[in-house]
Amino acid sequence: MNRNDFPILKELVHGRELVYLDNAATSQKPQPVMDAIVEAYSHWNSNIHRGVHHLSQVATMKHEEARKAVAAFIGAESSDEIIFTKGTTDSINALAFCLGELLVHEGDEIIVSGLEHHSNIVPWQMLCERKKAVLRHIPLRDDLSLDIEAFKGLLNDKTRLVSVAHVSNVLGTIQPVEEIIRLAHESNIPVCIDGAQSVPHMPVDVQALNCDFLVFSGHKLYGPTGIGVLYGKREWLEKLPPHEGGGEMINHVRWSGTSYNELPYKFEAGTPNYVGSWALKTAMDYMQAIGWDAMEAHEQELTAYCEQQLRAIDGIRIYAAGQRKAGVISFNVYNGKELIHPFDIGTLLDQQGVAVRTGHHCAEPLIDEIGVPGTVRVSFGLYNDRADVDAFIAALQKSIAILG
Ligand code: PMP
Repeated sequence: MNRNDFPILKELVHGRELVYLDNAATSQKPQPVMDAIVEAYSHWNSNIHRGVHHLSQVATMKHEEARKAVAAFIGAESSDEIIFTKGTTDSINALAFCLGELLVHEGDEIIVSGLEHHSNIVPWQMLCERKKAVLRHIPLRDDLSLDIEAFKGLLNDKTRLVSVAHVSNVLGTIQPVEEIIRLAHESNIPVCIDGAQSVPHMPVDVQALNCDFLVFSGHKLYGPTGIGVLYGKREWLEKLPPHEGGGEMINHVRWSGTSYNELPYKFEAGTPNYVGSWALKTAMDYMQAIGWDAMEAHEQELTAYCEQQLRAIDGIRIYAAGQRKAGVISFNVYNGKELIHPFDIGTLLDQQGVAVRTGHHCAEPLIDEIGVPGTVRVSFGLYNDRADVDAFIAALQKSIAILG
């Protein structure tokens, strides 16, 4: 892994070289991704799908090439199944609206899990409020894994969709989505996978998984902010009504009514983020040049090393310790029986140049279930190394000595 490709890692924070361990929130960008953005605005910026002129054709070609690259990256059957959005949150909100209009009526049920990010809870709550439907959640076992037996009991003829995270953004645990999809499909219920924390860390193949929808964000995948993906199986996307009206998503507009464009344009109203899609493709190319085997092995090794180092410190409680994880560890520090507030740990780490996340990580129901005010979360990217973990552990020990 070439850290030199990531200029921000040379930044000094409070006079120290940055140790960036907040990759689950957003990843840093390699130079080629930044170059792609500058190149786009310097050489081919133009609105797409509209003009016959040269620049517009180049920009259109780049956007569609990016769509094909995304389809290949997640193993979709066709690039028509790739909708560009602003990110995971935008994708889930779009899906909640479209699916709600098509399928959800009073008394119907949607199932999420007890460890979801707010963006896979609140859009469904809003839909349920609008349609007088009911949001259910898969409960957690004591070890914070999903209770699949309880999930089986939740599925019934009123269930319209199951939407679950592939990897928990708080715990880093990899969820049994294959089993969830299989069980839901036995009752003909579609499944949406929130891949915000999985797609950056492991190969995700939508056809192998057989999920009906997959959502993720570009900015967690070494790409820019403001671009994300909603994948949907063609048979679903054909049936769903559009969630936004405007230019590009139409076939014809008359005062008597509007006919909609074909896939995927039906779901991309207005000027799309064609610079973002091109930069996202560049990020995916960058990752593929390294290769999944190398990235996965590196992150797994680093996560195991960090968990082992943490365990050696007195008073550390790691959540979902020892379970299969994808680059995320959440923990708290106890001084005897007393919890040292995660914000205090995070603040002292920051003063030593170490960036971690503290708080509820936009997953308050899970944090309530754990019964703490928040956690300290470290999360890895492909550029992190053992020196980052060592610097973090040393800074943590110093922080505990001060606070304890
Ligand atoms: N789902 C999960 C599991 C996440 O980790 C995040 C980001 N923390 C989101 C959804 C929301 O992603 P975004 O803010 O990029 O829309």
